[in-house]
Amino acid sequence: MYRPRIKAKHRPVRLGDRQVRIGGTVPGIESRIPDPDGWVWALLDTLDGTRTVDQVVAELVRRFPGRLAGDVATEVFRDLGVLIRAGYVENAAEAMPAALSARERERYGRSRELFRWMARSGHRTSWDAQLRLRQARVVVIGVGGTGSTAALNLALSGVGELHCVEPDVVELSNLARQILYTERDLGRLKLDAAVRRLRARNSDIRITGEALTVTGPAELLALAVRFDLVVLAADQPAEIRTWTNRACLQTGTAWVHAGYHGPQINYGLYRPGTGPCYECIETAEGQHHAVATPLAPAAGWEEIQAGNAVSAGVSGNLAAHTAMSLITGVPGLPANREHAFNLVTLDGHAVSTLDAPRPDCPACGQQAATG
Ligand SMILES: [Zn+2]
Repeated sequence: MYRPRIKAKHRPVRLGDRQVRIGGTVPGIESRIPDPDGWVWALLDTLDGTRTVDQVVAELVRRFPGRLAGDVATEVFRDLGVLIRAGYVENAAEAMPAALSARERERYGRSRELFRWMARSGHRTSWDAQLRLRQARVVVIGVGGTGSTAALNLALSGVGELHCVEPDVVELSNLARQILYTERDLGRLKLDAAVRRLRARNSDIRITGEALTVTGPAELLALAVRFDLVVLAADQPAEIRTWTNRACLQTGTAWVHAGYHGPQINYGLYRPGTGPCYECIETAEGQHHAVATPLAPAAGWEEIQAGNAVSAGVSGNLAAHTAMSLITGVPGLPANREHAFNLVTLDGHAVSTLDAPRPDCPACGQQAATG
């Protein structure tokens, strides 16, 4: 039996100017609803999980004796539908998910609360996001700075199957930012240490790995076809994002990438076939910046990677967050975008504003023209 209830974290507040605020105070979740005659407040008051929808209608008919019962029912169905689709309502009578053990429900209880809070669309049960993570197969390519944090977050969060790809050995200079490795791992394969540490953090999920060096698009295609989502946390070879883009376009696999350019974290998330691809955006950005001519580098300039535990950690956290949004639909981040977060200004913003695929895109242009 469906018993609609406003989520506790979204508890409505009546404001003085004949408005109701619902969804708390977090931007992106809160909204304000005009309520000149008190109807919205009364409806929300009845959505406490003790009534079925029919009983909600009956209660409001009683509270608004001047209105026709049929009109009240129509308004309840309309307004309740809006509230459900916006993610403010859950079913107080939902069944316990049989697929999750008592141990899993205890382990992921706090994550469930956050998903519940952040969900901006209707879900069957408050465990839906956790169940989707449990069913997901994710590959993390590159378990260095970004990838260590990304893989750890995905493992802790309960991604059902996690596969790590990393050919390198642990070096002393890795230890300042790559959180999966310790001094005892120096000179050993990162992959072995990563898989061992991840398993120690969550033995309820399947964690595997391979010490593969990606040298061309074929390897990425072979990975993309095996997994539901690709997390690209490697930046070498230079073409790796393009290769991943093409592989995922071919297999229809969702993917994210993240990395850092000094103090700026760059990340993107893609769902092939639903908007511009990575190369559409790169082409557009390339044209935008084409007027800038760099000075020749000074003599003695060295290209040494700049990064610490914070820049790598933020990058890895954003990779995991965007990956989980693509898997669970929570909080439903818009896909097919490039984003940046700046550690100097603390400013985060969307880098790309392209809404549709470019017909001249070398990767998806043909699809755009024919599809
Ligand atoms: Zn494209």
